[in-house]
Amino acid sequence: MGNHNHHHHEHSGASLIDAARDSLVSSGEQWTSMRADIFEELARHERPASAYDIADNLSAKRGKRVAPNSVYRILDLFVANNLALRVESANAFLANSHPGCEHDCIFLVCDECGEATHIDNDEISEKVRGVAKAADFRARRPIIEIRGTCASCS
Ligand SMILES: [Zn+2]
Ligand SMILES: [Zn+2]
Ligand SMILES: [Zn+2]
Repeated sequence: MGNHNHHHHEHSGASLIDAARDSLVSSGEQWTSMRADIFEELARHERPASAYDIADNLSAKRGKRVAPNSVYRILDLFVANNLALRVESANAFLANSHPGCEHDCIFLVCDECGEATHIDNDEISEKVRGVAKAADFRARRPIIEIRGTCASCS
């Protein structure tokens, strides 16, 4: 967090998968074939994906049933390691396009098409953290999501 004066790189496609793998491995976790499959599946989705969506697609891909619960556990691991972002109001996940650095990401979530546009604004999130601190509350993770209608749906 802090000021946004670090080298912030938004990844996509193969470079995103490499960055996610490097980031997970460097925190001492293994990049298993199941984790790789789940991350690739997540990265393919432009809109937030639920554990059920991913389990369905993976079951088809692997030709054997993948339980949503195991997908859920891995998604939680991804969130804990900053590889995935959880869109709370949609109960769904997005691949984190900046796995190398931490931000309190802000999402604009379209009620019509479900698209979640991702914005980083550390000035806003630090204000939100400050409000919590002033109320003697230790903020672990501010969740800032704006529901509404995206440009192509309005
Ligand atoms: Zn950054
Ligand atoms: Zn972000
Ligand atoms: Zn929309």
